[in-house]
Amino acid sequence: KREKEPYQMNNILDYVQQRDPGENEFHQAVTEVMASIQPVMDRNPEYRAAKILERMVEPERVILFRVPWVDDMGEVQVNRGFRIEMNSAIGPYKGGLRFHPSVNLGILKFLAFEQVFKNALTTLPMGGGKGGSDFDPKGKSDMEVMRFCQSFMAELFRHIGPDTDVPAGDIGVGAREIGYLFGMYKRLRNEFSGVLTGKGLNWGGSLIRPEATGYGSVYFAAEMLATRGETLEGKTCLVSGSGNVAQYTLEKLLDLGARPVTCSDSSGYIYDETGIDRKKLAFLMNLKNVRRGRVKEYAEHYSDAVYTAVDPDQDHNPLWAHKANCAFPSATQHEINAKDAQNLVNSGILSVCEGANMPTTPEGIDILIANAILYGPGKAANAGGVSVSGLEMTQNSMRLSWTREEVDNRLQMIMKSIHQTCLSAAGQYGTPGNYMNGANIASFIKVVDAMLDQGVV
Ligand code: GLU
Repeated sequence: KREKEPYQMNNILDYVQQRDPGENEFHQAVTEVMASIQPVMDRNPEYRAAKILERMVEPERVILFRVPWVDDMGEVQVNRGFRIEMNSAIGPYKGGLRFHPSVNLGILKFLAFEQVFKNALTTLPMGGGKGGSDFDPKGKSDMEVMRFCQSFMAELFRHIGPDTDVPAGDIGVGAREIGYLFGMYKRLRNEFSGVLTGKGLNWGGSLIRPEATGYGSVYFAAEMLATRGETLEGKTCLVSGSGNVAQYTLEKLLDLGARPVTCSDSSGYIYDETGIDRKKLAFLMNLKNVRRGRVKEYAEHYSDAVYTAVDPDQDHNPLWAHKANCAFPSATQHEINAKDAQNLVNSGILSVCEGANMPTTPEGIDILIANAILYGPGKAANAGGVSVSGLEMTQNSMRLSWTREEVDNRLQMIMKSIHQTCLSAAGQYGTPGNYMNGANIASFIKVVDAMLDQGVV
């Protein structure tokens, strides 16, 4: 019998770096999970023998396709479409579509990789996937967005299905886009099914799905705070973003008596010292969802608020330098770097709860954890969105729809369960209170055990 070398995580990182050069966000996502699961690999030699890590970093399938469409000027435009079917060990591929100019293979692989673990935490049977396009919906007319979505679905439809792969929204893909995508799928397949989630309420959507990611993130923060005998009542909160996740984070924070003071878009942020109240939130929602405007207009409308333009190349984002108790990064990846994390620590922040996917850089995470900040990683804290997507799939399969209370209760139960799962796994593996390790370890074991049960596939 040959002696085997102990598993070195560095090997798997070198492995992905060599195989997938330039996919930096993917490397970060892999690095973070691998660092957490080293003790699991050490305790389970059969994982190594089954080449589990090598299998997990390789998507089961990558679909890359041309998306040609005609703009309002009659010009032909060409974008690139993707769907990464990452892992189906515990259920059909599930995960959003992102339409944003930054979209490329590496970004979607990072999102798909994260999704596998996130979905495993939800308690629901969903595998992980992600897709999207470098198409920029900003400034496009409704008809342009529709033509783009129809062209995108004209290829994607052959790869997805209610028991195969169920896409949903993400950045740049909301109710409008899901509607256009669903309409085209239905036409091509002549089939009315739950193939997408985030659908309109009167055609198969679920109550609470629009609210789910934001509400879930606040429920998760409340659970974390409770471990230190704290609540959100009266807490000053920094929220970034102004899209779906940020809007319902703000709403739930108000429900729980907190005082949110910021929100942002890719150009800058507003700071409203008097607090973003319900009336102002309604203004923001109308501004963003109906008029598709910029947060700058909030400060033009409410003189209490100050708008600050933010250059993405700045060494820190002044939003995170305001004094507050809780932070809810809910915009996009890499919005909190080491300096921002240090600013949060200096201001005495209690918790950082990630509504976005991977908003904190690895150096930022190290600073938060070293300072014993309650840090809720995205794959746990923002899992409410995909959880209610899972509940939408359940309702579609049963051909019925649950009430608001029913869905919200289930969402709260799921967020509590995710919180508990993270805490127990973190404790069991020697890092009590480290939600990042807990989330990575618990979800990894669940997916890996399913993979082992199913043989070498
Ligand atoms: N895009 C969301 C996420 O990052 C939701 C995915 C879904 O509902 O399938 O989890």
